[in-house]
Amino acid sequence: MRTHTNDHIGVWIRFYGPLNTLLSKERRGSSFIRYLPESTTVKDLIEGCGVPHTEVDLVLVNGRKAAFDDPVEGGERISVYPVFLNLEIPPSDRKQTRTLEFPSFVVDVNLGKLAGYLRIAGFDSLYRNDAMDKELIHTALEEDRMLLTRDRRLLMHRVIKAGYFVRSDQPVEQLEEILIRFDLFKQISPFTRCIHCNGQLEEAEKSDVLEQLEPLTRRYYHRFSRCKSCGQVYWAGSHRKRLNPKLRELLDIG
Ligand SMILES: [Zn+2]
Repeated sequence: MRTHTNDHIGVWIRFYGPLNTLLSKERRGSSFIRYLPESTTVKDLIEGCGVPHTEVDLVLVNGRKAAFDDPVEGGERISVYPVFLNLEIPPSDRKQTRTLEFPSFVVDVNLGKLAGYLRIAGFDSLYRNDAMDKELIHTALEEDRMLLTRDRRLLMHRVIKAGYFVRSDQPVEQLEEILIRFDLFKQISPFTRCIHCNGQLEEAEKSDVLEQLEPLTRRYYHRFSRCKSCGQVYWAGSHRKRLNPKLRELLDIG
């Protein structure tokens, strides 16, 4: 292969598994040559193909494990792997978290429904519909939260270590992606967190919340919880029946 032409350098690159969905069609599923005006880094090469570094678990350059900051000078063969839950890569070789033990998220502005669904599932999820990019990045770093976004550019910021590019535009499918990607099914704990403010819910005595209840609710419901942060009162009948059926099925809510 000619890897140097007209002062451009060329590398062979191949993306594996679901990373292909982030590539233009003609680049999917096989190696292609990428010509570059000058030497670059592994990270910039990969992201120049449209794949944020947060999606990549392992990079091999000429068969050897590489770091994102490693230089690419031309002539290399580069293989880029996504996070496979069931593929045994030694922990020291992985770039991404594959399971989250105590998941906490910060959710981009256009994913409000997803944020609500994550809260219904019991996951700590910060969301504001007017958050600026720099605020999202700051929160992700300061509070060690996973950044969830549909904006690849946001994930390409070098400082972002933990992030996920949400593929689907359907909120229930988005939640399912995240549960699968971070192996969270066992940690689902429905109705333990406030949908409105992300606060934790605690059990409340009926007598303590009586004033906040409509007459029919007072009559028919006896178990209540209340948000420790904003005081919102919840009861079993209040929201569950109206939830999206697919969401109820995904979260195994009867
Ligand atoms: Zn609340």
